[in-house]
Amino acid sequence: MIVTRFAPSPNGPLHLGHAWSAIVSHDLARDAGGWFLLRIEDIDGVRSRPELADEFREDLAWLGLEFEEVAAQSTRLASYEAAAAELRQRGLLYPCCCTRAEIAASATIPGPDGAIYPGTCRGKDIDTVQGVAWRLDMAEAIRRVGSLEWSDEIAGAQQAHPEIFGDVVLLRKDAPASYHLAATLDDAADGVTLVTRGMDLFEASHVHRLLQALLGLPVPKWHHHALLLDERGDKLAKRRGSPSLADRRRAGEDGRALADDLRSGKLPAGISLGDRLDTRA
Ligand SMILES: [Zn+2]
Repeated sequence: MIVTRFAPSPNGPLHLGHAWSAIVSHDLARDAGGWFLLRIEDIDGVRSRPELADEFREDLAWLGLEFEEVAAQSTRLASYEAAAAELRQRGLLYPCCCTRAEIAASATIPGPDGAIYPGTCRGKDIDTVQGVAWRLDMAEAIRRVGSLEWSDEIAGAQQAHPEIFGDVVLLRKDAPASYHLAATLDDAADGVTLVTRGMDLFEASHVHRLLQALLGLPVPKWHHHALLLDERGDKLAKRRGSPSLADRRRAGEDGRALADDLRSGKLPAGISLGDRLDTRA
């Protein structure tokens, strides 16, 4: 049984890029007689606008996508804490009190999420009463689990290279969990068997595979799809003046027809589909 999911954050309205991602995920499940799940990733603190979740449900229905909704991330904080506590107890996490500016000034090696944290706080005795972030000791984590593989439906078998991220943050100073920890735990809890998302998150799967090994979680397959690109060839984001899905819906546009156009490659002017294996977009 194939289980996929679409997991938007209610930080802003959904746009065409989200629609494409949801359609890919929905169709992969539907074509295999499986389940397509909606999970609201609403732990982004002040940026999170819970009222947008209702819009998202209406947007998906408008596109003609049937979904089952699972628990929002804000209801799962205990599971993130428990996983972090386990890793902490096993000596795999350390507190980091660096500010963004301090990291920017000291980090020099580029990584997939910006410059790699140089490990300033590793091994230091840091007061955790003040807000700290908790980072994974990447070298130690890899030493414990050994070499790992994962598989993408399009790109094929992959050797896991989580070290390209350095000591990633698993618990953020300002949020209960990082994307890496929350998404990995939730996908396991929700029984997701095929993790579908854009190529821009291809490299994150190296870290997620490592977390699965560390936490004894089931290992899904991945399907990283090509991204919709704007006129400049950049990942389609909310463009100035471009209508959100909710805008289109309220204006009376036919959402099912839009979904079918996207499926058949009929893209609006100025928008193109990126290379399926391009991770840089
Ligand atoms: Zn630090």
